[in-house]
Amino acid sequence: MVLIIDSHPYRYEAEALCRMFLRGRELKIFEGADIPEDDFIYTFVSDSDISVRVKIDGKDLSAKAEKTENPAQKLEYLLYELLSQITGITPKWGTLTGIRPVKLALSMMDKGLSAEEVREKFKKERLVSDEKLDLLLSTAEHERAIRAFSKPESVSMYISIPFCPSRCSYCSFTSHAIEKAAKLIPQYVDLLCEELRDTAKLMDELGLHLETVYMGGGTPTVLTPEQMDWVLSTARSSFDFGSVRELTVEAGRPDTITPEKLEVMKRNGVGRISINPQTMDDGVLERIGRKHTAKDVVDAFYMARSFGFDNINMDLISGLPGDDFDKFRKTIDSVLELDPENITLHTLTVKRSADLVNDAQNMLSRTVDEMNEHAFRCFDEAGYYPYYLYRQKGTVEALENTGFCKPGKEGIYNVFIMDETHTILATGAGGVTKMKDPHGPKIERIFNFKFPYEYIDRFDLMNERKEQVRDFYERYPL
Ligand code: SF4
Repeated sequence: MVLIIDSHPYRYEAEALCRMFLRGRELKIFEGADIPEDDFIYTFVSDSDISVRVKIDGKDLSAKAEKTENPAQKLEYLLYELLSQITGITPKWGTLTGIRPVKLALSMMDKGLSAEEVREKFKKERLVSDEKLDLLLSTAEHERAIRAFSKPESVSMYISIPFCPSRCSYCSFTSHAIEKAAKLIPQYVDLLCEELRDTAKLMDELGLHLETVYMGGGTPTVLTPEQMDWVLSTARSSFDFGSVRELTVEAGRPDTITPEKLEVMKRNGVGRISINPQTMDDGVLERIGRKHTAKDVVDAFYMARSFGFDNINMDLISGLPGDDFDKFRKTIDSVLELDPENITLHTLTVKRSADLVNDAQNMLSRTVDEMNEHAFRCFDEAGYYPYYLYRQKGTVEALENTGFCKPGKEGIYNVFIMDETHTILATGAGGVTKMKDPHGPKIERIFNFKFPYEYIDRFDLMNERKEQVRDFYERYPL
């Protein structure tokens, strides 16, 4: 399939929109006015008009509209209309392609629009379905309450442990299977603690207050109890934890959770943990390369409860290879039986780096949509509500990832990061510090080295970059 961009700068928007309809078909992009013989999507923007022509599988449709104040949005609208007529696909998020639809809605509300006005606008101008508008506005209401916690001096911190016991086949994060990277961990932990101490000093000098802390990965619980204790106790002794509302550790894989590690977490004030089944079907777990069973999840969950953890999140994924509606339904039932405080439902994302591209393309998209609808209904009936959501490129059916919680049990860090409410200081390999103007929308980033061996070899150089945080707050003071 060829996408032709003729005389306009909206290539990114046109491409993102078209990809929602092509379901894995290759898309080549050309700039110019030449129209090929074969299937194509042609886009043209003149001083006065926007034109689109789509030819796919013998069907050939065109549309034209007057150029509006927001030509990119109009172009997306025309593309959506023609592509849905030709393919029969009607993505429920309409022409919205960004990863933060809630942030977009909240920014409109901040400018004075009511929730109903946002609903009308998204429905009419962006073709968003009622189902997704309900989800969006309900989530926005909860996100708005959480982001009100943040003050100009608030920041959150991410601690990266980019190691995993083995690699899941759907994973596209930079994580390193422990068999290959284990020898790096002791030195990595040493340097991470040094980075934590340096970050704490910098924060102190700048008058910043820590709001939430998230230790993620990877799988932080691949560390030994001693290594975990070292990282967590260094964080606690270096930062002023008086202002910290939430300390989360993504325990992740149940096969890495032990009584010793739970004791270390409890002793160091960890209030929220994740135990992530992804699915409760043993066949699907095996197929995706997770080396644990559904029973291991249940055992780890009750073990965590016995240590007093009363805020547990469980991640699930719809659309996994080998899964089907019936197995998914059983997964939802099993997780609800455990009654965790948070459930995060992800829709499988197919990225080039994952090993599953072919499997996922074979998955019936309609089924994934039905799985999500079913899960949403069950969560609602069980007393959960959606409190944050985001979309990722390449998600099956262009769907979303949604965090659900029991009343008052929102994962606060998740809201701050998705809303880009305040600065996130990232430590460890692969961490990206995102500095946010305390009084405006300006955001700048500092990238830590991605791989643990680079992080170790070039630690001093990387750590020097953190001085940019000081420079940022001089330009954008509290
Ligand atoms: S546990 Fe998470 S980060 Fe680790 S390999 Fe699996 S999906 Fe990737």
